[in-house]
Amino acid sequence: MDYIYDDQNIFAKILRGEIPNTTVYENEHALAFKDINPAAPVHVLVIPKGAYVSLDHFARDASPAEQVGFLQAVAEVCRLSDVEEGFRAISNTRTHGVQDVPHYHMHIIGGKQLGRMMP
Ligand code: 5GP
Repeated sequence: MDYIYDDQNIFAKILRGEIPNTTVYENEHALAFKDINPAAPVHVLVIPKGAYVSLDHFARDASPAEQVGFLQAVAEVCRLSDVEEGFRAISNTRTHGVQDVPHYHMHIIGGKQLGRMMP
């Protein structure tokens, strides 16, 4: 699979500081910020700083340090957010997965009782 990264996507612009964001947590490899259109009281997006299109791209090509840094950011978001009762982690992926922004991101959604969501 060829992954073609568009560096004009909105999250690339956020990473370059061209568009403001409400940062929740940041480390060397990842940035976590509030979703502009929250689906629940907690709705944070965690993104890698590297140029990865999607979860499968990130899982295949990101270095171990990038992958660990990303998961550490997820852990910090969970520690800093009101998700003691649980949450949902979602990575919509490409066309069938209805991914709008082509820079890999994980939604962390919680802070209330969520409904079932399969598929
Ligand atoms: P996707 O459908 O790609 O999984 O989700 C993209 C998410 O990015 C959506 O939940 C949308 O609200 C969020 N989003 C889109 N543009 C911006 C933006 O400029 N700033 C922030 N913080 N979130 C955005």
